[in-house]
Amino acid sequence: MPPRAPLVDSVSHELAELRSAGLWRELKEIASAQEPRVVLDGREVLLFCSNNYLGLANHPSVVAAARDALAKYGASAAASPLVSGHMSIHRALEEKIAAWKGLEAALVCSSGYQANLGVIGALVGRGDVVLSDELNHASIIDGCRLSRAAVRVFRHNDVDHLSALLAESGDARRILIATEAVFSMDGDLAPLREIVALAKQFGAWTLVDEAHSTGVFGPCGAGLAAELGLTREIDVHVGTLGKALGSAGAYVAGSRVLIDLVVNRARSFIYSTGLPPASAAAALAAIDVCEREPERAIGLRQRVARLADRLRAAGLSVPAGDSQILPVRVSGSAVEAGDDARRALSAMRALLDRGVYVAAIRPPTVPPGTSRLRLSVMATHTQQDLDAACQNVIAVLRSPLSRS
Ligand SMILES: *Cc1c(COP(=O)(O)O)cnc(C)c1O
Repeated sequence: MPPRAPLVDSVSHELAELRSAGLWRELKEIASAQEPRVVLDGREVLLFCSNNYLGLANHPSVVAAARDALAKYGASAAASPLVSGHMSIHRALEEKIAAWKGLEAALVCSSGYQANLGVIGALVGRGDVVLSDELNHASIIDGCRLSRAAVRVFRHNDVDHLSALLAESGDARRILIATEAVFSMDGDLAPLREIVALAKQFGAWTLVDEAHSTGVFGPCGAGLAAELGLTREIDVHVGTLGKALGSAGAYVAGSRVLIDLVVNRARSFIYSTGLPPASAAAALAAIDVCEREPERAIGLRQRVARLADRLRAAGLSVPAGDSQILPVRVSGSAVEAGDDARRALSAMRALLDRGVYVAAIRPPTVPPGTSRLRLSVMATHTQQDLDAACQNVIAVLRSPLSRS
């Protein structure tokens, strides 16, 4: 038997390497609701890394709906959906989502991670091909891996590369193209029109993950596919209820047969407890707010575009995106490879010292050399909040200190 280190020694060594590479991660503790100002480590800071984009997580009608459902249905679904964990409130939410998006059917899952894992594995397997954007979310990547289909990664938003890979996948039984609508780390939009056209040309299916576009894009927040008039052209719509909709959980939506397949075949769905009923009720109420108050999302997008312009005017690298997610690259040509992760971390800490909480996004979430600060803007941020974030980000990224 080879000598094997005890767990504590082996793991400590691994963690020390993470620390020295600037890749250490730790949980922070927020002691208040996801408002523009939160209490972090006993101190009030401006929150610029929450996905509560529309402020719905603590909207009075969303909270009231959750409270009513809690009283009526209790705290838990207490079983997987196929056993006794699918309640009337889940069904009501599914009907609401299908109608909102203009689709035949929808299914509620307990997380977006679960939804992608389940739906991809249900649709494709050995002998099939998934074509996946290189910046797709971990849940899509893991869904592809678990499915046992051949996975071919196309360069981010590169439809020529996608087209070439489609042409090379001639003998696949099924081909699924998977992309996010608004990319979670770059905030840019997928070229859905071109992707749909290619899918048609090659007989491929399409899966679009609207995690960050649900609630924010499209008529009454129905998503980017709806905004582009592509709803019926896309085979599989996935979205989360835990971001702009301020609740938790996710949905898969599309044709009735798609939903029947997921119910019958998606292991992550079948073997996991249903979404808590209060979360379903909260999401349903949140969609109602999106329908009643479309100006929330519209105002958010206008303000974030102005903020991006100001950061760019100050010479910062903010890639062209059109969403509420603003990535600000920390690497200049002077930054050595690998240094960008440490620099992002020190910039994030410097901002926190100044009372602004943003995310430092580093590998493996993004490719090496592309570490960044990511600002997530909320409809509830005031102009003063945006000004404060803007000024502090500019000051910190221009300071030599954060380069160390
Ligand atoms: C957040 C996210 C998910 C996961 O959703 P959860 O409900 O948080 O599990 C899936 N896909 C994308 C693109 C995401 O950003």
